[in-house]
Amino acid sequence: MSQIDGLPPLRDVIATHGLSARKALGQNFLLDLNLTARIARIAGDLSATDVLEVGPGPGGLTRGLLAEGARRVLAVEKDARCLPALVDIAQAYPGQLQVIEGDALEVDPLAHLTPPIAVCANLPYNVGTELLIRWLTPPQWPPVWRSLTLMFQKEVAERIVAQPGSKAYGRLAILAQWRCDARIALTLPPEAFTPPPKVSSAVVHLTALPAPRFDAQPAVLERIVAAAFNQRRKMLRSGLKALAPDIEDRLLAAGIKPTERAEQVPLEAFCALARQFET
Ligand code: SAM
Repeated sequence: MSQIDGLPPLRDVIATHGLSARKALGQNFLLDLNLTARIARIAGDLSATDVLEVGPGPGGLTRGLLAEGARRVLAVEKDARCLPALVDIAQAYPGQLQVIEGDALEVDPLAHLTPPIAVCANLPYNVGTELLIRWLTPPQWPPVWRSLTLMFQKEVAERIVAQPGSKAYGRLAILAQWRCDARIALTLPPEAFTPPPKVSSAVVHLTALPAPRFDAQPAVLERIVAAAFNQRRKMLRSGLKALAPDIEDRLLAAGIKPTERAEQVPLEAFCALARQFET
């Protein structure tokens, strides 16, 4: 029995239910329940919060979240083999765990939860960035979720928190930092997972700001940033020429040198440029 919840250790759960890890589903499991409880704590006090977990697998992080007092966890898992293990957890925490079998890219589980909502997940690497971008670009801001506590490959985590002037700085940094506080809360070596992935991982904690840091229309900002970093080695006056024939004037009006490259331009300046395109 484990110390955090009296349920069997995760190694036994995996053996009992035959959960051999599948690479195609990004299955790198966390088996240390002290570690999963620590990740749950990064999300903050969850006692009055509904939590969405994507990809619970054998349930290590799910158990961490429930043991740390989450009001309710809704878990979306694509691999049907994991469901019996999750039923055992649901029985240990009556009324607190609901599991949806499905693809997190196709169902919209946030609609099933009651605010305040936190998202906490050891994400499958193959869909992690796409899910993050969806959560960062909802139709309305502030979004329904209050915070995201997400495991990524370390290199992706570094792109989320990157500052101008670094190679990691790009679209992901701007989308994340425009309307959220973002920090790397924990870095983990490959050996923390079973099986170990090839690279290190990191947990990023993002908190939604009530309003964007700087004014800009989301669709306009996204279009400019996508175009600018698509051609990141080019000077902005040529990289963005397709957006407007008078791009040099617009860059200057936003306080950006037309000879600069996207990598050097701070978030505030990208927002000022976006405002130059608004009618
Ligand atoms: N949360 C568990 C842990 O920390 O040990 C498992 C994490 S493992 C990195 C990713 C999990 O996401 C696997 O259980 C996998 O089956 C599941 N998964 C993969 N793609 C998914 C998708 N599109 N929708 C929902 N779950 C998915």
